Amino acid sequence: ANEQASEQSEAAMPDWSAYRGVLIVVEQRDGAAKKVSWQLLGEGKKLAAKLDAPLMALVIGEDVAHLAEEAVHYGADRVFLCEAPELRTYRTRPYSRVVLKLIEEAKPEIVLFGATATGRDLAGAIATHLPTGLTADTTQLDVEPPPSRLLLASRPAFSEKMMATILCKQYRPQMATARAGVFQALPKDAAREGEIVRIEATMREEEIAAQVLDFLRETGKLNLEDAEIIVAGGRGLGGPDAFGLLTELADALGGVVGASRAAVDAGWIGHEHQVGQTGATVRPKLYFAIGISGAVQHTVGMSHADVVVAINKDEKAPIFQFAHYGIVGDLFKIVPAIAGEIKKR
Ligand code: FAD
Repeated sequence: ANEQASEQSEAAMPDWSAYRGVLIVVEQRDGAAKKVSWQLLGEGKKLAAKLDAPLMALVIGEDVAHLAEEAVHYGADRVFLCEAPELRTYRTRPYSRVVLKLIEEAKPEIVLFGATATGRDLAGAIATHLPTGLTADTTQLDVEPPPSRLLLASRPAFSEKMMATILCKQYRPQMATARAGVFQALPKDAAREGEIVRIEATMREEEIAAQVLDFLRETGKLNLEDAEIIVAGGRGLGGPDAFGLLTELADALGGVVGASRAAVDAGWIGHEHQVGQTGATVRPKLYFAIGISGAVQHTVGMSHADVVVAINKDEKAPIFQFAHYGIVGDLFKIVPAIAGEIKKR
Protein backbone atom coordinates (compact mmCIF):
# COMPACT_ATOMS: atom_id res chain seq x y z
CA ALA A 1 0.00 0.00 0.00
CA ASN A 2 2.84 2.36 0.86
CA GLU A 3 4.62 1.78 -2.46
CA GLN A 4 1.47 2.54 -4.40
CA ALA A 5 0.88 5.57 -2.26
CA SER A 6 4.35 6.98 -2.85
CA GLU A 7 3.69 6.85 -6.58
CA GLN A 8 0.75 9.17 -6.20
CA SER A 9 1.40 12.86 -6.45
CA GLU A 10 1.68 15.10 -3.40
CA ALA A 11 -1.40 16.93 -4.68
CA ALA A 12 -3.45 13.78 -4.11
CA MET A 13 -2.49 13.71 -0.41
CA PRO A 14 -5.66 13.45 1.64
CA ASP A 15 -6.15 15.76 4.58
CA TRP A 16 -5.20 13.84 7.72
CA SER A 17 -5.23 16.87 9.98
CA ALA A 18 -8.02 15.36 12.12
CA TYR A 19 -5.55 12.66 13.20
CA ARG A 20 -3.52 13.83 16.18
CA GLY A 21 -1.62 12.17 19.01
CA VAL A 22 0.21 8.96 19.80
CA LEU A 23 -1.74 5.93 21.06
CA ILE A 24 -0.07 3.08 22.96
CA VAL A 25 -2.06 -0.14 23.16
CA VAL A 26 -1.31 -1.52 26.62
CA GLU A 27 -0.90 -5.28 26.87
CA GLN A 28 -1.94 -7.08 30.03
CA ARG A 29 -2.38 -10.61 31.29
CA ASP A 30 -4.33 -11.32 34.48
CA GLY A 31 -4.36 -7.63 35.31
CA ALA A 32 -0.58 -7.16 35.09
CA ALA A 33 0.83 -5.02 32.28
CA LYS A 34 3.73 -6.15 30.10
CA LYS A 35 6.76 -3.96 30.67
CA VAL A 36 6.93 -3.15 26.96
CA SER A 37 3.71 -1.13 27.34
CA TRP A 38 5.34 1.25 29.81
CA GLN A 39 8.51 1.34 27.68
CA LEU A 40 6.37 2.40 24.71
CA LEU A 41 4.73 5.12 26.80
CA GLY A 42 8.24 6.42 27.57
CA GLU A 43 9.13 6.51 23.88
CA GLY A 44 5.66 7.74 22.89
CA LYS A 45 6.12 10.71 25.22
CA LYS A 46 9.14 11.87 23.18
CA LEU A 47 7.27 11.45 19.89
CA ALA A 48 4.19 13.26 21.21
CA ALA A 49 6.34 16.14 22.48
CA LYS A 50 7.96 16.56 19.04
CA LEU A 51 4.49 16.58 17.46
CA ASP A 52 3.03 18.82 20.17
CA ALA A 53 0.26 16.24 20.49
CA PRO A 54 -1.24 14.20 23.35
CA LEU A 55 0.05 10.81 24.47
CA MET A 56 -2.84 8.36 24.76
CA ALA A 57 -3.11 4.79 25.99
CA LEU A 58 -5.73 2.08 25.58
CA VAL A 59 -6.30 -0.50 28.31
CA ILE A 60 -8.56 -3.46 27.49
CA GLY A 61 -9.65 -6.26 29.85
CA GLU A 62 -11.78 -6.95 32.89
CA ASP A 63 -11.00 -5.34 36.27
CA VAL A 64 -8.10 -3.41 34.79
CA ALA A 65 -8.95 0.14 35.92
CA HIS A 66 -5.75 0.10 38.01
CA LEU A 67 -3.76 -0.24 34.77
CA ALA A 68 -5.39 2.90 33.37
CA GLU A 69 -4.14 4.73 36.49
CA GLU A 70 -0.72 3.17 36.02
CA ALA A 71 -0.62 4.28 32.38
CA VAL A 72 -1.13 7.87 33.59
CA HIS A 73 1.69 7.39 36.12
CA TYR A 74 3.93 6.24 33.25
CA GLY A 75 3.22 9.32 31.14
CA ALA A 76 -0.16 9.01 29.34
CA ASP A 77 -2.20 12.22 29.14
CA ARG A 78 -5.45 10.43 28.31
CA VAL A 79 -6.25 6.75 28.84
CA PHE A 80 -9.15 4.95 27.18
CA LEU A 81 -10.39 2.12 29.36
CA CYS A 82 -12.53 -0.67 27.94
CA GLU A 83 -13.69 -3.20 30.52
CA ALA A 84 -16.06 -6.12 29.90
CA PRO A 85 -16.29 -9.78 30.99
CA GLU A 86 -15.76 -10.90 27.37
CA LEU A 87 -12.48 -9.00 27.28
CA ARG A 88 -11.01 -10.83 30.28
CA THR A 89 -8.58 -12.82 28.12
CA TYR A 90 -7.08 -11.74 24.83
CA ARG A 91 -8.87 -12.85 21.69
CA THR A 92 -8.17 -11.33 18.31
CA ARG A 93 -11.65 -10.32 17.18
CA PRO A 94 -13.11 -8.64 20.26
CA TYR A 95 -9.86 -6.84 21.02
CA SER A 96 -9.29 -5.69 17.44
CA ARG A 97 -12.89 -4.40 17.29
CA VAL A 98 -12.23 -2.22 20.35
CA VAL A 99 -9.00 -0.81 18.91
CA LEU A 100 -10.53 -0.20 15.47
CA LYS A 101 -13.50 1.68 16.94
CA LEU A 102 -11.16 3.81 19.05
CA ILE A 103 -8.94 4.58 16.05
CA GLU A 104 -12.05 5.71 14.18
CA GLU A 105 -13.23 7.91 17.04
CA ALA A 106 -10.05 9.22 18.71
CA LYS A 107 -8.09 9.47 15.42
CA PRO A 108 -4.51 8.98 16.67
CA GLU A 109 -1.84 9.72 14.06
CA ILE A 110 0.44 6.99 15.48
CA VAL A 111 -0.51 3.67 17.09
CA LEU A 112 2.14 1.51 18.77
CA PHE A 113 1.96 -2.05 20.08
CA GLY A 114 4.55 -4.26 21.78
CA ALA A 115 6.08 -6.77 19.35
CA THR A 116 4.97 -9.64 21.58
CA ALA A 117 2.95 -12.64 20.40
CA THR A 118 -0.26 -10.82 21.38
CA GLY A 119 0.83 -7.41 20.06
CA ARG A 120 1.82 -8.85 16.69
CA ASP A 121 -1.47 -10.72 16.38
CA LEU A 122 -3.57 -7.70 17.35
CA ALA A 123 -1.67 -5.16 15.24
CA GLY A 124 -1.76 -7.45 12.20
CA ALA A 125 -5.50 -8.02 12.57
CA ILE A 126 -6.11 -4.27 12.83
CA ALA A 127 -3.91 -3.46 9.84
CA THR A 128 -6.00 -5.72 7.62
CA HIS A 129 -9.01 -3.51 8.29
CA LEU A 130 -7.29 -0.19 7.52
CA PRO A 131 -5.72 1.17 4.34
CA THR A 132 -2.60 1.93 6.37
CA GLY A 133 0.57 -0.13 6.74
CA LEU A 134 2.21 -1.75 9.76
CA THR A 135 5.93 -1.72 10.44
CA ALA A 136 6.72 -4.83 12.46
CA ASP A 137 9.38 -5.30 15.13
CA THR A 138 10.83 -1.79 15.14
CA THR A 139 13.89 -0.98 17.26
CA GLN A 140 14.05 2.81 16.67
CA LEU A 141 11.24 5.32 16.48
CA ASP A 142 11.29 9.00 15.63
CA VAL A 143 9.03 11.56 13.98
CA GLU A 144 9.53 14.30 11.45
CA PRO A 145 8.28 17.54 12.95
CA PRO A 146 5.13 19.20 11.57
CA PRO A 147 3.97 19.71 8.89
CA SER A 148 4.91 16.21 7.65
CA ARG A 149 4.43 14.52 11.09
CA LEU A 150 5.78 11.27 9.59
CA LEU A 151 6.64 8.36 11.84
CA LEU A 152 10.18 7.14 11.13
CA ALA A 153 9.94 3.49 12.11
CA SER A 154 13.27 1.67 11.82
CA ARG A 155 14.10 -2.00 12.06
CA PRO A 156 16.95 -4.30 11.06
CA ALA A 157 16.64 -5.51 7.46
CA PHE A 158 18.50 -7.70 4.95
CA SER A 159 19.50 -10.41 7.44
CA GLU A 160 20.06 -7.72 10.06
CA LYS A 161 22.91 -6.16 8.05
CA MET A 162 21.34 -2.72 7.80
CA MET A 163 18.63 -0.59 9.36
CA ALA A 164 15.60 0.24 7.21
CA THR A 165 13.41 3.23 8.01
CA ILE A 166 9.86 2.64 6.88
CA LEU A 167 7.41 5.45 6.26
CA CYS A 168 3.67 5.44 5.82
CA LYS A 169 3.29 8.57 3.74
CA GLN A 170 -0.32 8.61 2.72
CA TYR A 171 -2.45 7.03 5.38
CA ARG A 172 -3.28 7.45 9.02
CA PRO A 173 -2.78 6.16 11.57
CA GLN A 174 0.85 5.17 11.17
CA MET A 175 1.26 1.86 12.99
CA ALA A 176 4.19 -0.13 14.33
CA THR A 177 5.01 -2.92 16.71
CA ALA A 178 8.14 -2.35 18.78
CA ARG A 179 10.54 -4.73 20.46
CA ALA A 180 10.47 -5.21 24.21
CA GLY A 181 13.52 -3.98 26.10
CA VAL A 182 14.66 -1.45 23.50
CA PHE A 183 12.90 1.65 24.78
CA GLN A 184 13.01 3.08 28.26
CA ALA A 185 10.00 3.60 30.51
CA LEU A 186 9.75 6.89 32.38
CA PRO A 187 10.07 6.65 36.15
CA LYS A 188 6.63 5.91 37.64
CA ASP A 189 5.10 9.09 39.05
CA ALA A 190 2.16 8.14 41.29
CA ALA A 191 1.25 11.83 41.73
CA ARG A 192 0.79 12.36 38.00
CA GLU A 193 -2.78 13.09 36.88
CA GLY A 194 -4.45 12.41 33.56
CA GLU A 195 -7.82 11.86 31.99
CA ILE A 196 -9.40 8.38 32.02
CA VAL A 197 -12.17 7.88 29.48
CA ARG A 198 -14.34 4.75 29.64
CA ILE A 199 -15.32 3.27 26.29
CA GLU A 200 -17.80 0.50 25.47
CA ALA A 201 -16.93 -2.99 24.27
CA THR A 202 -18.29 -3.58 20.79
CA MET A 203 -18.93 -7.34 20.82
CA ARG A 204 -20.98 -9.61 23.06
CA GLU A 205 -19.74 -13.02 24.15
CA GLU A 206 -22.20 -14.86 21.88
CA GLU A 207 -20.79 -13.07 18.81
CA ILE A 208 -17.26 -14.29 19.50
CA ALA A 209 -16.37 -17.53 17.77
CA ALA A 210 -13.26 -18.44 19.76
CA GLN A 211 -13.57 -19.38 23.41
CA VAL A 212 -10.69 -19.64 25.86
CA LEU A 213 -11.31 -22.84 27.82
CA ASP A 214 -8.16 -23.01 29.89
CA PHE A 215 -4.59 -21.76 30.18
CA LEU A 216 -1.75 -24.22 30.44
CA ARG A 217 0.90 -22.51 32.49
CA GLU A 218 4.52 -23.22 31.68
CA THR A 219 6.56 -23.17 34.83
CA GLY A 220 10.22 -22.28 34.93
CA LYS A 221 10.03 -20.67 31.48
CA LEU A 222 12.85 -18.28 30.84
CA ASN A 223 11.94 -14.61 30.73
CA LEU A 224 15.12 -12.87 29.58
CA GLU A 225 13.36 -9.63 28.67
CA ASP A 226 12.11 -8.97 32.19
CA ALA A 227 15.18 -10.36 34.02
CA GLU A 228 17.02 -7.94 36.30
CA ILE A 229 20.23 -9.99 36.37
CA ILE A 230 21.58 -11.94 33.39
CA VAL A 231 24.71 -14.09 33.39
CA ALA A 232 25.50 -14.65 29.70
CA GLY A 233 28.09 -16.95 28.20
CA GLY A 234 29.65 -17.28 24.75
CA ARG A 235 31.98 -19.38 22.66
CA GLY A 236 34.71 -18.86 25.27
CA LEU A 237 32.89 -21.39 27.47
CA GLY A 238 34.18 -24.09 25.12
CA GLY A 239 31.19 -26.40 25.52
CA PRO A 240 27.83 -26.97 27.22
CA ASP A 241 29.26 -28.06 30.58
CA ALA A 242 30.60 -24.63 31.46
CA PHE A 243 27.03 -23.28 31.40
CA GLY A 244 26.74 -25.14 34.72
CA LEU A 245 29.20 -22.60 36.19
CA LEU A 246 27.10 -19.75 34.84
CA THR A 247 23.90 -21.29 36.24
CA GLU A 248 25.58 -21.48 39.64
CA LEU A 249 26.49 -17.79 39.49
CA ALA A 250 23.04 -16.85 38.16
CA ASP A 251 21.33 -18.82 40.96
CA ALA A 252 23.55 -17.20 43.58
CA LEU A 253 22.54 -13.77 42.26
CA GLY A 254 18.87 -14.59 41.62
CA GLY A 255 19.37 -14.10 37.88
CA VAL A 256 18.97 -16.08 34.66
CA VAL A 257 21.41 -17.43 32.09
CA GLY A 258 21.83 -15.76 28.70
CA ALA A 259 24.03 -16.68 25.74
CA SER A 260 25.63 -15.41 22.57
CA ARG A 261 24.54 -16.79 19.24
CA ALA A 262 27.83 -18.68 18.88
CA ALA A 263 26.97 -20.71 22.00
CA VAL A 264 23.40 -21.27 20.82
CA ASP A 265 24.45 -22.25 17.28
CA ALA A 266 26.95 -24.72 18.77
CA GLY A 267 24.00 -26.40 20.50
CA TRP A 268 25.34 -25.71 24.01
CA ILE A 269 22.16 -23.96 25.17
CA GLY A 270 18.66 -23.26 23.80
CA HIS A 271 17.76 -20.34 21.55
CA GLU A 272 15.45 -18.91 24.21
CA HIS A 273 18.65 -17.86 26.03
CA GLN A 274 20.08 -15.90 23.07
CA VAL A 275 20.69 -12.19 23.50
CA GLY A 276 21.19 -9.93 20.49
CA GLN A 277 19.84 -8.93 17.17
CA THR A 278 18.29 -12.32 16.41
CA GLY A 279 17.61 -13.08 20.07
CA ALA A 280 16.22 -11.06 22.95
CA THR A 281 16.83 -7.37 23.60
CA VAL A 282 17.40 -7.08 27.32
CA ARG A 283 17.57 -4.23 29.80
CA PRO A 284 18.70 -5.79 33.09
CA LYS A 285 20.22 -4.01 36.06
CA LEU A 286 23.29 -6.28 35.84
CA TYR A 287 24.66 -8.14 32.81
CA PHE A 288 27.62 -10.51 32.91
CA ALA A 289 29.24 -11.12 29.48
CA ILE A 290 31.46 -14.14 30.00
CA GLY A 291 33.63 -15.49 27.17
CA ILE A 292 31.74 -13.21 24.77
CA SER A 293 33.80 -11.09 22.36
CA GLY A 294 31.25 -8.26 21.94
CA ALA A 295 30.18 -8.48 18.28
CA VAL A 296 27.74 -5.73 17.32
CA GLN A 297 24.95 -8.26 16.80
CA HIS A 298 25.35 -9.23 20.46
CA THR A 299 25.88 -5.80 21.99
CA VAL A 300 22.81 -4.36 20.25
CA GLY A 301 20.76 -6.64 22.50
CA MET A 302 22.45 -5.83 25.82
CA SER A 303 24.01 -2.38 25.63
CA HIS A 304 21.07 -0.88 27.57
CA ALA A 305 21.98 -2.87 30.70
CA ASP A 306 22.57 -0.59 33.69
CA VAL A 307 25.83 -2.31 34.66
CA VAL A 308 27.87 -4.62 32.42
CA VAL A 309 30.60 -6.87 33.81
CA ALA A 310 32.79 -8.49 31.14
CA ILE A 311 35.05 -11.45 31.78
CA ASN A 312 37.37 -12.25 28.89
CA LYS A 313 40.92 -13.52 28.56
CA ASP A 314 41.59 -11.14 25.65
CA GLU A 315 42.13 -7.61 26.95
CA LYS A 316 41.41 -6.22 23.47
CA ALA A 317 37.98 -7.88 23.20
CA PRO A 318 35.43 -5.26 22.04
CA ILE A 319 33.07 -6.18 24.90
CA PHE A 320 35.31 -4.16 27.24
CA GLN A 321 34.15 -0.99 25.44
CA PHE A 322 30.65 -1.68 26.79
CA ALA A 323 31.72 -2.91 30.21
CA HIS A 324 31.52 -0.86 33.38
CA TYR A 325 33.70 -3.48 35.05
CA GLY A 326 36.15 -5.59 33.07
CA ILE A 327 38.03 -8.64 34.32
CA VAL A 328 40.82 -9.92 32.06
CA GLY A 329 41.46 -13.57 32.75
CA ASP A 330 40.29 -17.16 32.49
CA LEU A 331 36.56 -17.50 33.08
CA PHE A 332 37.05 -20.99 34.51
CA LYS A 333 38.90 -19.46 37.46
CA ILE A 334 37.02 -16.17 37.79
CA VAL A 335 33.39 -17.34 37.59
CA PRO A 336 33.63 -19.96 40.40
CA ALA A 337 35.52 -17.42 42.54
CA ILE A 338 32.75 -14.80 42.16
CA ALA A 339 29.98 -17.40 42.72
CA GLY A 340 31.77 -18.68 45.85
CA GLU A 341 32.16 -15.16 47.24
CA ILE A 342 28.48 -14.30 46.62
CA LYS A 343 27.28 -17.51 48.26
CA LYS A 344 29.23 -16.59 51.42
CA ARG A 345 27.29 -13.31 51.79
P1 FAD B 1 33.49 -15.21 19.86
O1 FAD B 1 33.39 -14.00 19.04
O2 FAD B 1 34.23 -16.37 19.30
O3 FAD B 1 34.14 -14.78 21.25
C1 FAD B 1 34.56 -15.68 22.23
C2 FAD B 1 35.29 -14.88 23.29
O4 FAD B 1 35.62 -15.73 24.38
C3 FAD B 1 36.61 -14.27 22.81
O5 FAD B 1 36.58 -12.88 23.02
C4 FAD B 1 37.67 -14.95 23.66
O6 FAD B 1 38.74 -14.09 23.99
C5 FAD B 1 36.89 -15.34 24.88
N1 FAD B 1 37.43 -16.50 25.61
C6 FAD B 1 37.83 -17.69 25.10
N2 FAD B 1 38.22 -18.51 26.09
C7 FAD B 1 38.10 -17.83 27.26
C8 FAD B 1 38.34 -18.13 28.63
N3 FAD B 1 38.79 -19.33 29.02
N4 FAD B 1 38.11 -17.17 29.55
C9 FAD B 1 37.67 -15.94 29.20
N5 FAD B 1 37.40 -15.60 27.92
C10 FAD B 1 37.59 -16.54 26.96
N6 FAD B 1 25.38 -12.96 17.99
C11 FAD B 1 24.73 -12.88 19.18
O7 FAD B 1 25.33 -13.05 20.25
N7 FAD B 1 23.38 -12.62 19.19
C12 FAD B 1 22.66 -12.44 18.08
O8 FAD B 1 21.44 -12.24 18.17
C13 FAD B 1 23.33 -12.51 16.82
N8 FAD B 1 22.66 -12.29 15.65
C14 FAD B 1 23.37 -12.32 14.47
C15 FAD B 1 22.69 -12.03 13.28
C16 FAD B 1 23.38 -12.04 12.07
C17 FAD B 1 22.63 -11.72 10.82
C18 FAD B 1 24.77 -12.32 12.06
C19 FAD B 1 25.52 -12.30 10.77
C20 FAD B 1 25.43 -12.62 13.24
C21 FAD B 1 24.74 -12.63 14.45
N9 FAD B 1 25.39 -12.92 15.65
C22 FAD B 1 24.72 -12.80 16.82
C23 FAD B 1 26.76 -13.47 15.68
C24 FAD B 1 27.82 -12.45 16.03
O9 FAD B 1 28.25 -11.80 14.86
C25 FAD B 1 29.05 -13.16 16.67
O10 FAD B 1 29.51 -14.15 15.78
C26 FAD B 1 28.73 -13.82 18.00
O11 FAD B 1 28.10 -12.89 18.87
C27 FAD B 1 30.03 -14.27 18.63
O12 FAD B 1 29.76 -14.96 19.82
P2 FAD B 1 30.83 -15.03 20.99
O13 FAD B 1 31.19 -13.66 21.44
O14 FAD B 1 30.31 -15.99 22.00
O15 FAD B 1 32.06 -15.77 20.27
